[in-house]
Amino acid sequence: MDDFRTAGHAAVDLLADYLGKLPEGPVWQPVDPAARERLLTLPLPQDGRGLAELVAEIGGEVLPYPMGNGHPRFFGWVNAAPAPAGVLATLAAAAMNPSSAGGDHADVHLERTVVRWIAELAGFPHPPGGGLLTSGASMATIVALGAARNRAARQLGVDVREQGLAVLPPLTGYVSAETHSCVRKAAELLGLGSRNLRAVRTDATGHLDPADLRARVRADRAAGLHPFLAVASAGTVNTGAVDDIAAIAAVCADEGLWLHVDGAYGAFGVLDPASAHRYAGLELADSLALDPHKWLGVPVDCGCVLVRDPVELRGTFSLVPSYLRDENAGGLGWFSEYGIEQTRPFRSLKVWATVAASGRDGIARDVAHCAAMARRLGELVSAEPSLELMAPVETSIAAFRYAPDGVSDAVLNQVNQALPVAVQERGRTFVTGTLLDGREAARACLINPAVTEPDLAVLVEEAVAAGADLLTALRP
Ligand SMILES: *Cc1c(COP(=O)(O)O)cnc(C)c1O
Repeated sequence: MDDFRTAGHAAVDLLADYLGKLPEGPVWQPVDPAARERLLTLPLPQDGRGLAELVAEIGGEVLPYPMGNGHPRFFGWVNAAPAPAGVLATLAAAAMNPSSAGGDHADVHLERTVVRWIAELAGFPHPPGGGLLTSGASMATIVALGAARNRAARQLGVDVREQGLAVLPPLTGYVSAETHSCVRKAAELLGLGSRNLRAVRTDATGHLDPADLRARVRADRAAGLHPFLAVASAGTVNTGAVDDIAAIAAVCADEGLWLHVDGAYGAFGVLDPASAHRYAGLELADSLALDPHKWLGVPVDCGCVLVRDPVELRGTFSLVPSYLRDENAGGLGWFSEYGIEQTRPFRSLKVWATVAASGRDGIARDVAHCAAMARRLGELVSAEPSLELMAPVETSIAAFRYAPDGVSDAVLNQVNQALPVAVQERGRTFVTGTLLDGREAARACLINPAVTEPDLAVLVEEAVAAGADLLTALRP
């Protein structure tokens, strides 16, 4: 183990330097073509090498080409900077290397605790067994919608696990145009058919309209269909909008629908006192998907699904072959009975470390800071004549576009479609783009608590400069 100790110390020094110097360098730069070629064409080594040499190679060939999301001026997609406590915990988790499928070892018990902590942070009820960690919210959504399908089928007298979908009449689910694509992916995978996902109207700022939901459910039921699911967003990926969950929950209660809330990005925004009121009704959902690997900064991967009814979840997935029977599993059984994965990684240690390093108050402070900075960005954008804020800042996403006076929407779309990559290549900050109501826009997601007001000024400056360059290039 001397090798491991020496190389391990070197690795920690390397990573401390890497993390410490990140803010000084460009946020992101294209990978140097020669380095890219080397990475792509590495031959399968014939002979092994020492650990120290591998650590040095990581330092020379890998660390210099990051995605950029560790940098305080990275605002792309919903990708977090890693919490240092989580980075260290990852090493310990790998050293133990259990399968957190179940059994009597620390990781399994710790997962029960951190799932409860996540529920407490988000303000969601947590009966024992009512959730598990997943690879991300996409997997959490598949698990949740699987349980919703199981319940709906049973109510129609079908055991979908045994009989399959062929004997089921079409089940219809209700989403909005702002619902994340992972819901459609889950619906397709579960055999529900994306055409049975109905797009409910949204209001001018992207919130699912509960009255339209009710009307569509009733119309579909009258037409002989079987409405079973509604999906509300607690923070859409485009603008961070939080749906009126309480009103949607009321429709779901009246109409017997399973309410799934996608809080992958935004659920922890409830910890910001200025935004908490937007989340009223979250606790009424049947299932909630959230991503500790986003706003909490837990190193990837870590999603989480929470459910009100653990029995329904276990009934959807539990399958215990004789060689896995474990008399010591206790009343809750194994995590592998509540989801898709059998061998499961030790995700809970990095969640434990990340949450324990900050405490509830520290996490709430960080969330509130990001939300306040996003609102400030909204103000800076509004005050800049050549920029246009595209939606109110509800959580910690600001969507905006370069839109100087007197330029047609068609040209603005050309400019703004190219703007995020132009900003990225300049290296000082990083945003990504989206399409809002047919209009190209940049959207900045603020989930790194290290972000400061001067960082926001750089973003505004860069968007204006890149926009002006692109517009000039388009003009004859
Ligand atoms: C990121 C995200 C997802 C997908 O989660 P993954 O962890 O990437 O699988 C779903 N919904 C929303 C709102 C998201 O932000």
